[in-house]
Amino acid sequence: MITREEIVNILQGITHPESGKNIVEGGILQEVTVGEGGKIHLTLVFRRRRDPFAKSVATRAKLAIEAAEAEAQVEILIREGEEAPKPRQHEGMKDVKNIVAVASGKGGVGKSTVTANLAVELHKMGYKVGVLDADIYGPSQPKLFGVEDFEPWAEQVDGLDYIAPAESEGIKINSIGFYIGREDALVWRGPMATNALKQLINQTLWGELDFLLIDMPPGTGDVQISIAENLSLAGAVIVSTPQKVATADVVRGMKMFEAEGIGVPVLGVVENMAFFSPAELPDHRYYIFGRGGARQMAESAGVDFLGEIPLIQAIAENSDAGTPIALGSSEEEKYYAEICRKIVEKLMK
Ligand code: ADP
Repeated sequence: MITREEIVNILQGITHPESGKNIVEGGILQEVTVGEGGKIHLTLVFRRRRDPFAKSVATRAKLAIEAAEAEAQVEILIREGEEAPKPRQHEGMKDVKNIVAVASGKGGVGKSTVTANLAVELHKMGYKVGVLDADIYGPSQPKLFGVEDFEPWAEQVDGLDYIAPAESEGIKINSIGFYIGREDALVWRGPMATNALKQLINQTLWGELDFLLIDMPPGTGDVQISIAENLSLAGAVIVSTPQKVATADVVRGMKMFEAEGIGVPVLGVVENMAFFSPAELPDHRYYIFGRGGARQMAESAGVDFLGEIPLIQAIAENSDAGTPIALGSSEEEKYYAEICRKIVEKLMK
């Protein structure tokens, strides 16, 4: 049976033609109840005494719910000429100082691994850190932090429901992976994914954070654009391998953040899997994916280069074990530390 949350999600796709706002954000939807036997009651409140769109909005709302659940019995009460009380906003983000998106042009370049290790490193530097895993195509932060079995629970604050995040190594973590099955991402389309992510971001009880890192879905689709537009991002970190095919997508990604109307500064580029040094020949460097491709791309795009991270077996092994390598004091850790220093310098000055 369809839930109240699902109904609200669906109704976020219905806009009032005059204001252009969806009826949830615009405060038109005042009440949703799912009663015994699945009967759904909606109350829609229109400010004008005779709103010419009231009926069509109600019809579209009904049809949208029925499209999701054919058997749904939807009753809609329309009230007009009333000032709708402003819906109360969730304020889970209010004490978060810097939201930083970690993005990549394509999947598999190590974006999630970089996000987890940067989070660990920032925490080591004494900052309060959270990670939001927004990668709907392959959420991997629960595994990277060894909290796959975490079941989020709700906590009420001022009468609103919030989600308590997982916590690992002092880092707060919430992931779309806690809520969706493996196959679900495939059927998710723009607005639905965006709404779910927005909800996840705003309704999480992050508390006070210096940095919230967002593990973005790879690429530059609607969902990515919407996150970039809707969250006040302090900046974006772009992860790429040196490979030409990877760097081409990265340029598009950088343009997305810097586009007019979005205006998120690109803090810089991280070159992951920059080279390979076998444990038995630590002084040898093999440039498997080409040499310095991401660095060159950053230079020609006029964006800072934040650092390189080699391809190292221990990085992958530690990721698989749920203990990001930056937790220990290894040779590898210094690569992430260096990148963090640059990020902090840019954001905290
Ligand atoms: P993305 O988030 O871009 O899809 P992941 O972070 O999931 O990429 O990384 C893809 C794979 O590459 C994972 O198996 C991960 O452990 C591995 N990996 C990432 N960075 C490195 C690295 N520097 N050295 C070795 N393996 C890495």
